[in-house]
Amino acid sequence: MRYVKLPKEKVCEFLERLKSMGTLYGPKKISEKFYDFREIGDVKEVEFEYNRTITPPRKYFFPERETVFTFDTVNVEIHETMPEGKPIILFGVHACDIVGLRIMDSRFIDDLPDPYYQIRRENGIIIGLSCLPDEYCFCSVRRTDFVDAGFDLFLHLLPDGYLVRVGTVTGHKLIENSPEYFEEISSEDKDNFAKFETKRRSMFTVQGNWDDMRYRLELHLDHPMYMRESDKCLGCGNCTLTCPTCRCYEVKDLPTLDGTGGERIRFWDSCQFRSHGLVAGGHNFRPTKKDRFLNRYQCKNAYCETTTTSYCVGCGRCTYFCPADIQFKENLLEVYGTGGGA
Ligand code: SF4
Ligand code: SF4
Repeated sequence: MRYVKLPKEKVCEFLERLKSMGTLYGPKKISEKFYDFREIGDVKEVEFEYNRTITPPRKYFFPERETVFTFDTVNVEIHETMPEGKPIILFGVHACDIVGLRIMDSRFIDDLPDPYYQIRRENGIIIGLSCLPDEYCFCSVRRTDFVDAGFDLFLHLLPDGYLVRVGTVTGHKLIENSPEYFEEISSEDKDNFAKFETKRRSMFTVQGNWDDMRYRLELHLDHPMYMRESDKCLGCGNCTLTCPTCRCYEVKDLPTLDGTGGERIRFWDSCQFRSHGLVAGGHNFRPTKKDRFLNRYQCKNAYCETTTTSYCVGCGRCTYFCPADIQFKENLLEVYGTGGGA
């Protein structure tokens, strides 16, 4: 892997360079408490020290609503509405969210290729950014706090700039074509990188490894935590809509009023909605809140073969944005500790 340094005084110029290559998106502060990935107009709007965004980066490759095709009932034709394939530059993605994108790839590219997702992803450039955990983060026990794939460049904070890891040929070309922004790293930079990493790892409120979490949960499907916590759940779907790896969607045909055509759309769905498990004849596979709640805990703790991590990457969004203050990490720990093992 190649390493270079991006000095602090060159960061804005580098962002301008990225902006000239396509549509630049990055983390922005949007209110007193919240950050979100948004299109960057002025590069000074980019937030470098955010904890988590409301919506996850998957929204740029798998939008919350999109038209799949339009139909013409008069001529009996359909017209696919493929994405244009414009360059998408996503700056400031944390390690856990990069694993989230790799998990999305495993489902939407490796398993059953989805051309809408694939075209956008092939036109995406991902620039990672280091971070320090808050009390909601538990990516280290998920092994998603440090990535060695899924990014073109990854920026690690130094006192006077960033140590940049180059992850792909695209990242390499970015550096080669903009040598004026980068310099060689010094031994002091290497020491500062190591110090940052040591500090970062020591800050997690949970330590260890949750590789066996799935099995611990499966052995206690009747744990009282599920009934107690699902009782509080409002079924709002915030936990899934903000999750970087949730990918359930609904498909609907919307005809025009005159009946001459219409469009087929797909939009994000949530397993926490009662309608999600509803099928023909009014049968519901998950009729109770507890069924839906349990499903999410099982789904998120299953393993993705590609990343060899759980589908939960430990970003903390589902707790941070839950209006009922349901604590995902603490609830998992409660079940994990059943029998005295936590
Ligand atoms: S965000 Fe909280 S209240 Fe809303 S569905 Fe998820 S667990 Fe329930
Ligand atoms: S389940 Fe919660 S903590 Fe895990 S990745 Fe999804 S939003 Fe983040």
